[in-house]
Amino acid sequence: MRALRNIAILTSGGDAPGMNACTRAIVRTGIASGYRMFGVEYAYQGLVDGKFQSLGSRDVGNIISQGGTTLGAGRSTAFKTPEGLARALEMIRATEIDALIIQGGDGSLRGAQALSEAGVSVIGIPASIDNDVSGTSYSIGFDTALNTVLDAIRRLRDTARSHNRIVIVEVMGRACGEIALRAGVAGGAEVILVPEHPTDLPAVAAQLLDGRRRGKRFSIVVLAEGAGHAYDVQAKLEAVDVELKSTVTVLGHIQRGGDPTAFDIIVASEMGYRAVKALQQGQRNVMVSYSKGDYSLVPIPEVNEGSKRFDEELFDLSQILAR
Ligand code: ADP
Repeated sequence: MRALRNIAILTSGGDAPGMNACTRAIVRTGIASGYRMFGVEYAYQGLVDGKFQSLGSRDVGNIISQGGTTLGAGRSTAFKTPEGLARALEMIRATEIDALIIQGGDGSLRGAQALSEAGVSVIGIPASIDNDVSGTSYSIGFDTALNTVLDAIRRLRDTARSHNRIVIVEVMGRACGEIALRAGVAGGAEVILVPEHPTDLPAVAAQLLDGRRRGKRFSIVVLAEGAGHAYDVQAKLEAVDVELKSTVTVLGHIQRGGDPTAFDIIVASEMGYRAVKALQQGQRNVMVSYSKGDYSLVPIPEVNEGSKRFDEELFDLSQILAR
């Protein structure tokens, strides 16, 4: 195997606030360690198309607090085909890239494993506003998204209070209820509906009506998109009782962008630094993980076989606090 000289960075899947801070940290740590650094434009598609750009320290100036990713993110169906993978490998060889650092969610980490199995040295960094990557309790972008959702809930609470209304807020999370759970707790939601628990609308209706009887003038329902559609939930609740009239807000893509929080910038910077150090120490096919306040390296196949643990205790607490 060649000595490690050239390292390329990919930001893949959905963009997440903090990706830029991570790219900046990777580039500057890499340069400080004597490596040549490259960025791949538009993730795996850029790999297939051979879109590499050389990155110096100045090229990552002033991106620390920008949301999104200046390298471009995105999904690639071509990369998932044997021909696409072969083409990506050819481009990696032709550009003399010795290792790739891949920021992204669970799909992107499966792509990283495919490259690793084809002989490429890869390091993964979890970046996903859904915080749905297993093997780490934290993924870059989650704190920013959480604060965006919390801000929306606070605004909706003002109007719910003024109109004695039930407010249904639909947030991201197809298979993972992290945003709904944590934003729901932080926003004082009465009901939190997540894909990890079956949605029992008659029970939700009974709980909301009971709240009204106990003097609650308004209620907030936070719904992860994987637990149902907000307008369906609205119709079904209103069909139970006219008292359960509600307004619906689907937050959608505003949850994705925005300037990263201090927490996201710091974790992203530390993960970027650790990814380069891991390569330097001869580690391959591992993901940088942040759990219980500490960083570690987890084999990517282990990440891809696992599933994100749902915080049942916090869910239990959310139900106690909703009384
Ligand atoms: P995320 O990383 O945010 O979960 P996706 O699931 O869309 O986003 O994955 C991003 C990209 O990773 C896909 O467009 C594809 O190019 C690549 N990818 C996903 N799954 C695989 C796989 N099993 N094998 C190879 N590449 C994959």
